[in-house]
Amino acid sequence: MNLQGLHPDTLAVRAGTQRSQFQEHSEAMYLTSSFVFGSAAEAAARFSGAEPGPIYARFTNPGVSMFEDRLAALEGAERCVAFASGMAAILATVMGLMKAGEHVVASRSIFGSTVQLFQNILGRFGVETTFVSPTDPAEWRAAVKPSTRLFFVESPSNPLTEVSDIRALADIAHEAGAWLAVDNCFCTPALQRPLQLGADIVIHSATKYLDGQGRVLGGAVLGDKALMEGVYTFLRTAGPTLSAFNAWVLLKGLETLSLRMQAHSAHALELAIWLEAHPKIARVLYPGLPSHPQHELAMRQQVNGGGIVAFELAGGKEAAWKVIDATQVMSITANLGDTRTTITHPASTTHSRMTPEQRAAAGIGDGLIRIAVGLEHPADLMADLERGLALI
Ligand SMILES: *Cc1c(COP(=O)(O)O)cnc(C)c1O
Repeated sequence: MNLQGLHPDTLAVRAGTQRSQFQEHSEAMYLTSSFVFGSAAEAAARFSGAEPGPIYARFTNPGVSMFEDRLAALEGAERCVAFASGMAAILATVMGLMKAGEHVVASRSIFGSTVQLFQNILGRFGVETTFVSPTDPAEWRAAVKPSTRLFFVESPSNPLTEVSDIRALADIAHEAGAWLAVDNCFCTPALQRPLQLGADIVIHSATKYLDGQGRVLGGAVLGDKALMEGVYTFLRTAGPTLSAFNAWVLLKGLETLSLRMQAHSAHALELAIWLEAHPKIARVLYPGLPSHPQHELAMRQQVNGGGIVAFELAGGKEAAWKVIDATQVMSITANLGDTRTTITHPASTTHSRMTPEQRAAAGIGDGLIRIAVGLEHPADLMADLERGLALI
Protein backbone atom coordinates (compact mmCIF):
# COMPACT_ATOMS: atom_id res chain seq x y z
CA MET A 1 0.00 0.00 0.00
CA ASN A 2 1.36 3.44 -0.93
CA LEU A 3 1.29 5.51 2.26
CA GLN A 4 2.47 8.71 0.58
CA GLY A 5 0.29 11.69 1.51
CA LEU A 6 -2.05 9.77 3.82
CA HIS A 7 -3.11 11.47 7.06
CA PRO A 8 -2.05 10.09 10.48
CA ASP A 9 -5.62 8.91 11.25
CA THR A 10 -5.50 6.76 8.11
CA LEU A 11 -1.96 5.51 8.77
CA ALA A 12 -3.00 4.43 12.29
CA VAL A 13 -5.50 1.92 10.89
CA ARG A 14 -3.93 1.08 7.50
CA ALA A 15 -0.12 1.32 7.66
CA GLY A 16 1.93 -1.84 8.05
CA THR A 17 -0.83 -4.37 7.37
CA GLN A 18 0.38 -7.68 5.89
CA ARG A 19 -2.02 -10.47 5.00
CA SER A 20 -1.43 -14.20 4.78
CA GLN A 21 -2.78 -16.34 1.90
CA PHE A 22 -6.17 -16.32 3.73
CA GLN A 23 -6.54 -12.55 3.25
CA GLU A 24 -7.76 -11.91 6.81
CA HIS A 25 -9.23 -8.40 7.23
CA SER A 26 -8.08 -7.86 10.82
CA GLU A 27 -4.38 -8.69 11.13
CA ALA A 28 -3.56 -12.23 12.29
CA MET A 29 -1.28 -13.17 15.17
CA TYR A 30 1.75 -15.31 14.33
CA LEU A 31 2.41 -17.58 17.31
CA THR A 32 5.38 -19.55 16.06
CA SER A 33 9.03 -19.53 17.06
CA SER A 34 10.40 -20.32 13.59
CA PHE A 35 9.50 -20.30 9.90
CA VAL A 36 10.16 -22.96 7.25
CA PHE A 37 11.79 -22.46 3.86
CA GLY A 38 10.84 -23.94 0.51
CA SER A 39 14.37 -25.09 -0.20
CA ALA A 40 17.94 -24.98 1.07
CA ALA A 41 18.61 -22.16 -1.38
CA GLU A 42 15.69 -20.12 0.02
CA ALA A 43 16.95 -20.69 3.58
CA ALA A 44 20.39 -19.45 2.54
CA ALA A 45 18.94 -16.39 0.82
CA ARG A 46 16.86 -15.48 3.91
CA PHE A 47 19.82 -15.89 6.27
CA SER A 48 22.11 -13.80 4.06
CA GLY A 49 19.50 -11.06 3.80
CA ALA A 50 19.38 -11.38 0.00
CA GLU A 51 15.68 -12.28 0.26
CA PRO A 52 13.34 -10.62 2.79
CA GLY A 53 11.11 -12.71 5.06
CA PRO A 54 10.83 -14.23 8.50
CA ILE A 55 13.44 -16.63 9.87
CA TYR A 56 13.20 -17.01 13.64
CA ALA A 57 10.97 -15.08 16.04
CA ARG A 58 13.76 -13.64 18.16
CA PHE A 59 14.29 -11.11 15.37
CA THR A 60 11.61 -11.62 12.70
CA ASN A 61 7.86 -12.09 13.16
CA PRO A 62 5.22 -10.71 10.76
CA GLY A 63 3.05 -9.40 13.63
CA VAL A 64 5.96 -7.57 15.21
CA SER A 65 6.89 -6.13 11.78
CA MET A 66 3.34 -4.84 11.29
CA PHE A 67 3.49 -3.02 14.65
CA GLU A 68 6.94 -1.61 13.78
CA ASP A 69 5.85 -0.40 10.35
CA ARG A 70 2.66 1.22 11.63
CA LEU A 71 4.46 3.06 14.47
CA ALA A 72 7.22 4.16 12.05
CA ALA A 73 4.55 5.64 9.76
CA LEU A 74 3.02 7.56 12.67
CA GLU A 75 6.37 8.94 13.92
CA GLY A 76 7.57 9.71 10.38
CA ALA A 77 10.58 7.43 10.91
CA GLU A 78 12.42 5.33 8.31
CA ARG A 79 12.54 2.36 10.63
CA CYS A 80 11.21 1.11 13.97
CA VAL A 81 12.64 -1.74 16.06
CA ALA A 82 10.26 -3.18 18.68
CA PHE A 83 11.29 -4.47 22.12
CA ALA A 84 9.87 -6.40 25.07
CA SER A 85 9.52 -3.23 27.18
CA GLY A 86 10.37 0.45 27.24
CA MET A 87 13.43 -0.23 29.38
CA ALA A 88 14.67 -2.85 26.89
CA ALA A 89 14.30 -0.22 24.15
CA ILE A 90 16.41 2.29 26.08
CA LEU A 91 19.06 -0.33 26.90
CA ALA A 92 19.20 -1.43 23.24
CA THR A 93 19.68 2.17 22.08
CA VAL A 94 22.83 2.50 24.17
CA MET A 95 24.10 -1.05 23.53
CA GLY A 96 23.48 -0.72 19.82
CA LEU A 97 25.02 2.70 19.27
CA MET A 98 27.65 3.35 21.95
CA LYS A 99 30.81 1.86 23.43
CA ALA A 100 32.79 2.06 26.67
CA GLY A 101 34.46 5.43 27.18
CA GLU A 102 31.62 7.36 25.58
CA HIS A 103 29.42 9.87 27.37
CA VAL A 104 25.68 10.61 27.70
CA VAL A 105 24.06 13.91 28.66
CA ALA A 106 20.60 13.21 30.10
CA SER A 107 17.79 15.20 31.60
CA ARG A 108 17.57 14.98 35.37
CA SER A 109 13.79 14.54 35.06
CA ILE A 110 13.57 11.12 33.40
CA PHE A 111 11.85 7.87 34.34
CA GLY A 112 13.30 6.42 37.56
CA SER A 113 14.48 3.14 36.02
CA THR A 114 16.14 5.08 33.19
CA VAL A 115 18.18 7.02 35.77
CA GLN A 116 19.19 3.73 37.45
CA LEU A 117 20.07 2.19 34.07
CA PHE A 118 22.36 5.05 33.04
CA GLN A 119 23.86 5.68 36.46
CA ASN A 120 24.28 2.24 38.01
CA ILE A 121 24.30 -0.30 35.19
CA LEU A 122 25.74 1.40 32.10
CA GLY A 123 28.19 3.20 34.39
CA ARG A 124 29.71 -0.20 35.28
CA PHE A 125 30.36 -0.80 31.58
CA GLY A 126 32.17 2.48 31.05
CA VAL A 127 29.35 4.63 29.64
CA GLU A 128 29.27 7.73 31.79
CA THR A 129 26.21 10.01 32.18
CA THR A 130 25.91 13.65 33.24
CA PHE A 131 22.44 14.74 34.41
CA VAL A 132 21.28 18.28 33.61
CA SER A 133 18.18 20.48 33.77
CA PRO A 134 15.43 19.58 31.28
CA THR A 135 14.55 23.26 30.80
CA ASP A 136 17.98 24.93 30.50
CA PRO A 137 19.72 24.17 27.16
CA ALA A 138 22.84 26.04 28.37
CA GLU A 139 23.42 23.26 30.93
CA TRP A 140 23.40 20.68 28.11
CA ARG A 141 25.94 22.68 26.13
CA ALA A 142 28.18 23.03 29.21
CA ALA A 143 28.00 19.27 29.91
CA VAL A 144 29.31 18.26 26.46
CA LYS A 145 32.69 16.46 26.33
CA PRO A 146 34.68 15.25 23.32
CA SER A 147 33.34 11.74 24.13
CA THR A 148 29.64 12.79 24.20
CA ARG A 149 27.59 10.62 21.81
CA LEU A 150 24.03 10.81 23.12
CA PHE A 151 21.57 13.35 24.55
CA PHE A 152 18.56 11.78 26.28
CA VAL A 153 15.37 13.64 27.23
CA GLU A 154 11.69 13.10 28.10
CA SER A 155 9.22 15.88 27.38
CA PRO A 156 6.93 16.58 29.19
CA SER A 157 8.67 15.10 32.22
CA ASN A 158 7.20 12.95 34.96
CA PRO A 159 5.67 14.02 37.34
CA LEU A 160 6.30 17.80 37.02
CA THR A 161 5.40 18.11 33.30
CA GLU A 162 8.53 20.19 32.56
CA VAL A 163 8.81 20.80 28.82
CA SER A 164 12.20 20.64 27.04
CA ASP A 165 12.98 22.56 23.85
CA ILE A 166 13.55 19.60 21.51
CA ARG A 167 14.78 21.71 18.58
CA ALA A 168 17.28 23.61 20.75
CA LEU A 169 18.63 20.36 22.25
CA ALA A 170 18.89 18.77 18.80
CA ASP A 171 20.98 21.71 17.58
CA ILE A 172 23.34 21.50 20.57
CA ALA A 173 23.64 17.71 20.20
CA HIS A 174 24.45 17.96 16.50
CA GLU A 175 27.09 20.68 17.05
CA ALA A 176 28.69 18.26 19.55
CA GLY A 177 28.55 15.36 17.09
CA ALA A 178 25.97 13.57 19.28
CA TRP A 179 22.48 12.15 18.69
CA LEU A 180 19.36 13.40 20.47
CA ALA A 181 17.04 10.64 21.74
CA VAL A 182 13.55 11.62 22.94
CA ASP A 183 11.46 9.30 25.11
CA ASN A 184 8.08 10.22 23.57
CA CYS A 185 6.02 8.13 25.98
CA PHE A 186 3.90 10.96 27.43
CA CYS A 187 2.88 12.56 24.10
CA THR A 188 3.01 9.70 21.57
CA PRO A 189 3.16 10.63 17.85
CA ALA A 190 -0.48 11.72 18.10
CA LEU A 191 0.65 14.85 20.00
CA GLN A 192 4.38 15.29 19.28
CA ARG A 193 6.73 14.08 16.54
CA PRO A 194 10.31 14.59 17.80
CA LEU A 195 11.98 13.56 14.51
CA GLN A 196 10.27 16.52 12.81
CA LEU A 197 11.73 18.77 15.54
CA GLY A 198 15.29 17.62 14.80
CA ALA A 199 15.67 14.61 17.12
CA ASP A 200 17.53 11.56 15.76
CA ILE A 201 15.95 8.81 17.84
CA VAL A 202 12.47 8.34 19.33
CA ILE A 203 11.94 5.84 22.15
CA HIS A 204 8.64 4.46 23.44
CA SER A 205 7.37 2.52 26.37
CA ALA A 206 4.50 1.02 24.34
CA THR A 207 3.18 -0.22 27.69
CA LYS A 208 1.56 3.17 28.23
CA TYR A 209 -0.55 5.04 25.68
CA LEU A 210 0.33 2.91 22.63
CA ASP A 211 -1.46 -0.04 24.24
CA GLY A 212 -3.80 2.35 26.00
CA GLN A 213 -5.60 -0.21 28.13
CA GLY A 214 -2.88 -1.32 30.54
CA ARG A 215 -2.68 -4.87 29.18
CA VAL A 216 0.83 -5.60 27.90
CA LEU A 217 4.47 -4.49 28.04
CA GLY A 218 6.31 -3.31 24.96
CA GLY A 219 8.87 -0.82 23.70
CA ALA A 220 10.22 0.67 20.49
CA VAL A 221 13.15 2.63 19.06
CA LEU A 222 12.75 4.67 15.86
CA GLY A 223 15.08 6.61 13.59
CA ASP A 224 16.79 6.47 10.22
CA LYS A 225 17.84 3.15 8.67
CA ALA A 226 21.55 3.55 9.36
CA LEU A 227 21.08 4.24 13.08
CA MET A 228 18.46 1.53 13.51
CA GLU A 229 20.75 -1.12 12.00
CA GLY A 230 22.90 -1.01 15.17
CA VAL A 231 19.83 -1.18 17.40
CA TYR A 232 18.41 -4.10 15.38
CA THR A 233 21.72 -5.97 15.51
CA PHE A 234 21.62 -5.78 19.31
CA LEU A 235 18.03 -7.13 19.30
CA ARG A 236 18.90 -9.96 16.92
CA THR A 237 21.89 -11.00 19.01
CA ALA A 238 20.75 -10.33 22.58
CA GLY A 239 17.01 -11.12 22.24
CA PRO A 240 14.98 -8.55 24.27
CA THR A 241 12.18 -9.34 21.80
CA LEU A 242 8.57 -8.12 21.77
CA SER A 243 6.28 -11.17 21.97
CA ALA A 244 3.91 -11.98 19.10
CA PHE A 245 0.87 -11.62 21.35
CA ASN A 246 1.95 -8.24 22.74
CA ALA A 247 2.72 -6.99 19.22
CA TRP A 248 -0.79 -7.95 18.12
CA VAL A 249 -2.36 -6.10 21.09
CA LEU A 250 -0.19 -3.01 20.42
CA LEU A 251 -0.97 -3.04 16.69
CA LYS A 252 -4.68 -2.79 17.57
CA GLY A 253 -3.93 -0.14 20.20
CA LEU A 254 -2.39 2.16 17.58
CA GLU A 255 -5.68 2.21 15.64
CA THR A 256 -7.39 4.26 18.38
CA LEU A 257 -4.31 6.17 19.60
CA SER A 258 -5.22 9.54 18.13
CA LEU A 259 -8.85 9.43 19.35
CA ARG A 260 -7.74 8.38 22.82
CA MET A 261 -5.02 11.05 23.08
CA GLN A 262 -7.51 13.77 22.08
CA ALA A 263 -9.91 12.58 24.78
CA HIS A 264 -7.20 12.13 27.48
CA SER A 265 -5.97 15.67 26.73
CA ALA A 266 -9.43 17.29 26.69
CA HIS A 267 -10.33 15.65 30.01
CA ALA A 268 -6.94 16.60 31.52
CA LEU A 269 -7.40 20.24 30.50
CA GLU A 270 -10.86 20.35 32.08
CA LEU A 271 -9.53 18.84 35.28
CA ALA A 272 -6.50 21.18 35.34
CA ILE A 273 -8.70 24.27 34.95
CA TRP A 274 -10.96 23.05 37.78
CA LEU A 275 -7.97 22.28 40.04
CA GLU A 276 -6.39 25.67 39.37
CA ALA A 277 -9.58 27.42 40.50
CA HIS A 278 -9.90 25.25 43.63
CA PRO A 279 -9.05 27.09 46.88
CA LYS A 280 -7.39 24.02 48.47
CA ILE A 281 -4.82 23.56 45.67
CA ALA A 282 -1.51 25.41 45.98
CA ARG A 283 -0.22 24.85 42.42
CA VAL A 284 -1.24 23.00 39.25
CA LEU A 285 1.28 21.77 36.68
CA TYR A 286 -0.17 21.13 33.24
CA PRO A 287 1.47 22.25 29.94
CA GLY A 288 -1.94 23.21 28.50
CA LEU A 289 -2.49 25.89 31.17
CA PRO A 290 -1.24 29.43 30.40
CA SER A 291 0.23 29.47 33.94
CA HIS A 292 2.65 26.62 33.06
CA PRO A 293 6.26 27.94 32.91
CA GLN A 294 6.81 26.48 29.40
CA HIS A 295 3.25 26.82 28.11
CA GLU A 296 4.23 28.61 24.90
CA LEU A 297 6.98 26.14 24.06
CA ALA A 298 4.63 23.23 24.79
CA MET A 299 1.99 24.64 22.47
CA ARG A 300 4.62 25.05 19.73
CA GLN A 301 5.94 21.49 19.83
CA GLN A 302 2.85 19.57 21.00
CA VAL A 303 -0.69 19.42 19.62
CA ASN A 304 -2.09 19.98 23.15
CA GLY A 305 -1.18 19.57 26.82
CA GLY A 306 -1.45 15.77 26.99
CA GLY A 307 -3.05 13.54 29.61
CA ILE A 308 -0.89 14.05 32.72
CA VAL A 309 -1.75 16.63 35.41
CA ALA A 310 0.19 17.23 38.63
CA PHE A 311 -0.84 19.39 41.56
CA GLU A 312 0.52 20.38 44.93
CA LEU A 313 -1.28 20.56 48.27
CA ALA A 314 0.03 22.89 50.97
CA GLY A 315 -0.60 20.23 53.63
CA GLY A 316 2.23 17.93 52.48
CA LYS A 317 2.10 14.15 52.58
CA GLU A 318 -0.77 13.93 55.09
CA ALA A 319 -3.06 15.99 52.87
CA ALA A 320 -1.95 14.19 49.71
CA TRP A 321 -2.59 10.73 51.17
CA LYS A 322 -6.03 11.88 52.43
CA VAL A 323 -7.05 12.99 48.95
CA ILE A 324 -5.70 9.79 47.38
CA ASP A 325 -7.38 7.52 49.95
CA ALA A 326 -10.75 9.25 49.53
CA THR A 327 -10.96 8.46 45.80
CA GLN A 328 -13.40 5.76 44.71
CA VAL A 329 -13.23 6.02 40.91
CA MET A 330 -9.50 6.56 40.29
CA SER A 331 -7.01 3.69 40.65
CA ILE A 332 -4.18 4.15 43.15
CA THR A 333 -1.33 2.92 40.98
CA ALA A 334 1.81 4.29 39.38
CA ASN A 335 0.97 3.18 35.84
CA LEU A 336 -0.25 5.65 33.23
CA GLY A 337 -1.62 5.76 29.71
CA ASP A 338 -4.67 3.67 30.58
CA THR A 339 -8.37 4.26 29.87
CA ARG A 340 -8.70 4.29 33.68
CA THR A 341 -7.52 7.37 35.57
CA THR A 342 -4.64 6.68 37.93
CA ILE A 343 -3.56 8.71 40.97
CA THR A 344 -0.04 8.60 42.43
CA HIS A 345 1.92 10.16 45.29
CA PRO A 346 5.37 10.42 43.62
CA ALA A 347 7.37 11.22 46.79
CA SER A 348 6.44 7.89 48.46
CA THR A 349 6.24 5.69 45.34
CA THR A 350 7.86 6.39 41.96
CA HIS A 351 10.43 8.82 43.43
CA SER A 352 10.90 7.21 46.87
CA ARG A 353 14.39 5.93 45.98
CA MET A 354 15.61 9.52 45.90
CA THR A 355 16.76 11.15 49.16
CA PRO A 356 14.51 13.94 50.56
CA GLU A 357 17.22 16.42 49.51
CA GLN A 358 17.28 15.08 45.92
CA ARG A 359 13.48 15.28 45.77
CA ALA A 360 13.51 18.85 47.07
CA ALA A 361 16.13 19.80 44.45
CA ALA A 362 14.00 18.18 41.74
CA GLY A 363 10.87 20.03 42.92
CA ILE A 364 8.99 16.88 43.96
CA GLY A 365 7.33 17.97 47.20
CA ASP A 366 5.51 15.78 49.72
CA GLY A 367 2.22 17.46 48.79
CA LEU A 368 2.54 16.61 45.09
CA ILE A 369 -0.04 14.33 43.42
CA ARG A 370 0.13 13.07 39.83
CA ILE A 371 -2.96 12.14 37.88
CA ALA A 372 -2.85 10.29 34.56
CA VAL A 373 -6.26 11.23 33.26
CA GLY A 374 -8.25 8.40 31.70
CA LEU A 375 -11.41 8.34 29.64
CA GLU A 376 -13.99 8.58 32.46
CA HIS A 377 -16.26 11.66 32.48
CA PRO A 378 -14.29 14.62 33.92
CA ALA A 379 -17.17 15.54 36.28
CA ASP A 380 -16.85 12.14 37.97
CA LEU A 381 -13.10 12.70 38.42
CA MET A 382 -13.70 16.15 39.96
CA ALA A 383 -16.27 14.69 42.38
CA ASP A 384 -13.79 11.92 43.22
CA LEU A 385 -11.09 14.46 44.17
CA GLU A 386 -13.56 16.74 45.96
CA ARG A 387 -14.33 13.90 48.41
CA GLY A 388 -10.80 14.14 49.81
CA LEU A 389 -10.29 17.87 49.29
CA ALA A 390 -13.34 18.53 51.49
CA LEU A 391 -11.55 16.70 54.34
CA ILE A 392 -8.40 18.84 54.39
C1 LIG B 1 7.09 3.37 31.82
C2 LIG B 1 8.12 4.23 31.22
C3 LIG B 1 9.33 3.69 30.75
C4 LIG B 1 9.67 2.22 30.89
O1 LIG B 1 8.83 1.43 30.14
P1 LIG B 1 8.50 -0.13 30.48
O2 LIG B 1 7.64 -0.53 29.35
O3 LIG B 1 7.82 -0.13 31.82
O4 LIG B 1 9.80 -0.83 30.54
C5 LIG B 1 10.23 4.53 30.14
N1 LIG B 1 9.98 5.86 30.02
C6 LIG B 1 8.84 6.42 30.48
C7 LIG B 1 8.62 7.87 30.32
C8 LIG B 1 7.87 5.62 31.09
O5 LIG B 1 6.76 6.20 31.56
